[in-house]
Amino acid sequence: MRKKLICQAIILAGILAACGTNNKSAKVDESKVSVESSVASSDGREATDMKVVKKNVTSSKEDVTTQESTTAPTSAAAQTATEAKKESEKQEVSQSAEESSKKSEEATKAKEAGEIGLDPNWEYASFSKIHSGSAVLYKPSENGNGITIAVNAGHGTKGGSSQKTLCHPDGSAKVTSGTTKAGATTAVAVSEGMTFEDGTPESTVTYEMAKVLKAELLSRGYNVLMIRDGSDVQLDNIARTVIANNNAAAHIALHWDSTTSNKGAFYMGVPEVDSYRSMEPVASNWKKHEALGKSLINGLSSNGTKIFSKGRMEMDLTQTSYSTIPSIDIELGDKKSDHGKDTLKNLSKGIADGIDSYFGR
Ligand SMILES: [Zn+2]
Repeated sequence: MRKKLICQAIILAGILAACGTNNKSAKVDESKVSVESSVASSDGREATDMKVVKKNVTSSKEDVTTQESTTAPTSAAAQTATEAKKESEKQEVSQSAEESSKKSEEATKAKEAGEIGLDPNWEYASFSKIHSGSAVLYKPSENGNGITIAVNAGHGTKGGSSQKTLCHPDGSAKVTSGTTKAGATTAVAVSEGMTFEDGTPESTVTYEMAKVLKAELLSRGYNVLMIRDGSDVQLDNIARTVIANNNAAAHIALHWDSTTSNKGAFYMGVPEVDSYRSMEPVASNWKKHEALGKSLINGLSSNGTKIFSKGRMEMDLTQTSYSTIPSIDIELGDKKSDHGKDTLKNLSKGIADGIDSYFGR
């Protein structure tokens, strides 16, 4: 019996030793892999982004952390851990970014940028329910005109429809029916968006559109504040609007409508309802929204984009209800519309012409 136990012990020790050896060699392999992957991922675009993020990110991170800690202490700890991980990843990439900084700066128009999160002290910020994400600011490398355009790729907030926010800052009911029915006082924080007839999600196309528009605007000297600079951003419609209010001269939200008739482009106009147009901040800004919407439709039309009806449909939107700068939701077509590269490029020229015209350029 004892002999058997000793034998077992010896065998067990052998197995453990063998396992130990395996673990060691596995670890060496892993570190090799991670070194290779960090080098491979530091292409020009990413390298530039990371470099500038490092420069500007500190203050916006602090804002986010402070805000989280007052509302949800538990998630604040998780947030901090995630941020710390992100930060170390960024620093890793930024090292290789510095090595190739000259090359990458020549390769991209965006010279200077930074992440901008929601500052809880901004007007209407407290109405937002989802705001752990950040927008990203880009500036042209030369001949900048100093005007910042917030480019808001519609939708693309995971979990956005599980939260509700007030339709109007004064708590009053919606005056038109769209995604949310008239009479409702709350709406989903960010809806999922539609799916094109070819199966592409609207949020994918609005992001592609945002990137094309960003390049066009940078080439014309504008700064571009990308409200969603990836497939997902944790910012609801109110957070997106408030960030734009405080960091941009105009706010353009990109959408496609949910009809299936390829009906053409139009903007969401400010409803002609007295109570709505006399409510702040709509009262002080609705004329600017309308002027910007008309400019965009003129720009699109003169570039050959099909326009729906008179290019306008009245809609009581969360975006409009909280905007303190010229702000428009532009619907660039619908489920049936082509959204290939050439079409997006043409749309970007039309929108940019409209922006030029609005700012008298
Ligand atoms: Zn949409």
